[in-house]
Amino acid sequence: MKARSSAMPRPLVVVGPSGVGKGTLIAMLQREFPDKFGFSVSHTTRAPRPGEVNGTHYNFVDKATMERDIAEGKFLEHAHVHQNIYGTSFAAVRKVSKSGKICLLDIDVQGAELVKKSDLKAAYVFIAPPSMKELERRLRGRGTETEDAVLKRLENARTEMAKKDVDGFFDAVIVNDDVDKAYDALKAVIAAHVDVAGGGGAASLAKFGPAAFGIACAIAIAARVFMNKGGP
Ligand code: ADP
Ligand code: 5GP
Repeated sequence: MKARSSAMPRPLVVVGPSGVGKGTLIAMLQREFPDKFGFSVSHTTRAPRPGEVNGTHYNFVDKATMERDIAEGKFLEHAHVHQNIYGTSFAAVRKVSKSGKICLLDIDVQGAELVKKSDLKAAYVFIAPPSMKELERRLRGRGTETEDAVLKRLENARTEMAKKDVDGFFDAVIVNDDVDKAYDALKAVIAAHVDVAGGGGAASLAKFGPAAFGIACAIAIAARVFMNKGGP
């Protein structure tokens, strides 16, 4: 198994069913490495949850505005998810890239498929729950969704879960059972597929750098990660 040879960090696309812990893991990365990672702030037509800040968690827009901006070609990708429209604008990705940080995208499988067809040379990681029962427990425990929304999200989760098994699509699949182990696994995936040289100058993942893939595989075994070799 070989790590990618390019030293240029790539954007990282994080995919997984709603409630699995993507936001939690991304927040942990940004907390530990504030100078290294930047979040691509998506647009959505869904209503903000308590505590969500416009421009930080999402750009909250109405449907007409979103549809107009999509028609004007402002989006790298967009998708209808859980009865709302979500999308990644070119501006959102550009903003992070210009800051020199590694761009993190939290998007659904449809969006990930579209990004893969774009010019953005990203790495892809799927975050899976230890079980569907635990996913449901987390979704309900978060307390942000109505009963209808929980059911819709669980239904969509089955489609999302099927995607993780499509050969070669994801660079890695991480089972988020214990959150700290999943976080270590995510950092190992980043070392192997995103930030191979540990470069970027800021607070570094360099400890994973030189032997990135070997270390990543060791952590992978401990944290139940499946990792594909190489990259595109
Ligand atoms: P997502 O962004 O994928 O929709 P969140 O990050 O919002 O998911 O996590 C959903 C809920 O699950 C949150 O309440 C979060 O605190 C909790 N959670 C995340 N990871 C774990 C874990 N490994 N074990 C238990 N609960 C978790
Ligand atoms: P939530 O409403 O829980 O914040 O997100 C619901 C789903 O929409 C999640 O799977 C999340 O990854 C996805 N999502 C968030 N932003 C985007 C985006 O810009 N594009 C796409 N395609 N999906 C997104």
